[in-house]
Amino acid sequence: MMQAPLEANDMQTGWLDSATAGFDYLIVGAGFAGSVLAERLARDAGKRVLVVDRRPHIGGNAYDRYDDAGVLIHPYGPHIFHTNSRDVFDYLSRFTAWRPYQHRVLASVDGQLLPIPINVDTVNRLYGLNLTAFQVEEFFASVAEPVEKVKTSEDVVVSKVGRDLYNKFFRGYTRKQWGLDPSELDASVTARVPTRTNRDDRYFADTYQAMPMHGYTRMFEAMLDHPNIKVMLNTDYREIQDFIPWQHMIYTGPVDAFFDYRYGKLPYRSLEFVHETHATEQFQAVGTVNYPNDYAYTRISEFKHITGQTHAQTSVVYEYPRAEGDPYYPVPRPENAELYRRYAQDVQNTPNVTFVGRLATYRYYNMDQVVAQALATYQKLLGGAAAETAD
Ligand code: FAD
Ligand code: UDP
Repeated sequence: MMQAPLEANDMQTGWLDSATAGFDYLIVGAGFAGSVLAERLARDAGKRVLVVDRRPHIGGNAYDRYDDAGVLIHPYGPHIFHTNSRDVFDYLSRFTAWRPYQHRVLASVDGQLLPIPINVDTVNRLYGLNLTAFQVEEFFASVAEPVEKVKTSEDVVVSKVGRDLYNKFFRGYTRKQWGLDPSELDASVTARVPTRTNRDDRYFADTYQAMPMHGYTRMFEAMLDHPNIKVMLNTDYREIQDFIPWQHMIYTGPVDAFFDYRYGKLPYRSLEFVHETHATEQFQAVGTVNYPNDYAYTRISEFKHITGQTHAQTSVVYEYPRAEGDPYYPVPRPENAELYRRYAQDVQNTPNVTFVGRLATYRYYNMDQVVAQALATYQKLLGGAAAETAD
């Protein structure tokens, strides 16, 4: 088990004087980026690491816990692990066993619950047709609006499936989620959701799709369970950075906050999560139901589908998009990339700090991409030494 996390008060009890003359690394953030680097630096390179997080728990946004009813929930929204990277999957497999899980999502459109990503069944059921895979390809070609160069999130969808499907499945959802029209967002946002001509109704098509058998938090506990890693929760790094000695910082929080917003606030989209427990075994047919056109929330997710837990009750979460609040999503659009570039210049000029993760590098990354980025960062930090000793 991981040792008891340190609280700021522990410093007054002399723990720090006796335990250490200083840390090699101060890691800000105990999410995927911070925890992977802590693990590698401590276990592989023998470095002394202090991980601080201002939240009262490890795991960052992937943190999970049992709610009052005893249902395993994801307080920061549903987190489904999927990757095509064998390296990432093998690395995480050192800290957890897995439960195979393939996520399925239905979209509530025109009074029906239809598969999203759009596939042949979506089209047939929406329009009352009976097209084959081949015919649906022709159908898409007949309704698609050619776009000279696909630049925006609107272009991606209308150039593939036309205006009606775009309006029904993407326009409203995106406006709600981002507070922007798809035409104001980079193509990469809606391009996350493919279009299919077959009957595959899985949300992801990656080679590895699985959930940590005992949850994410247990996996993070195993990662951080090392004598060279100390974890201090409920602590902003600014509270301790000047009086706990450290050599190098790894920062995984929002990059604009690190530089005191000197070029202005970099937009991050937030969400409000509303959790409910219901006295029934199942609330909805699949892990997530999207509501592109109705209600103020974008989607409802039911955790037991995702975790495989058996329980007489069930817990769900509604996601309400917000402009203000904890930063969850970078907002991919040209003017934000421009502003990020200004901060990125300062990152270059701050050699004793390494910036890693979704918020610190302002990239709309999934968990596996953050793990890959952190592993690559470790190789860069330790150079040849890391490559030689990697276990
Ligand atoms: P975070 O997890 O955000 O960790 C950063 C940590 O730094 C936080 O714990 C924060 O408290 C701490 N911190 C920040 N500033 C300070 C400070 N000043 N002092 C101390 N600590 C600080 N990815 C998937 O692969 N599959 C999914 O299904 C999926 N679903 C998602 C659903 C939602 C609603 C959201 C928001 C994200 C989802 N993601 C998903 C993305 C996933 O959450 C991220 O890729 C991953 O958690 C990012 O890890 P990170 O370490 O970069 O950042
Ligand atoms: N999207 C949409 N309709 C949907 C699902 C997704 O318009 O039914 C768009 C929307 O802009 C969303 C983006 O595609 O923000 C990416 O969707 P994803 O499910 O990957 O979002 P995340 O899980 O990261 O919130």
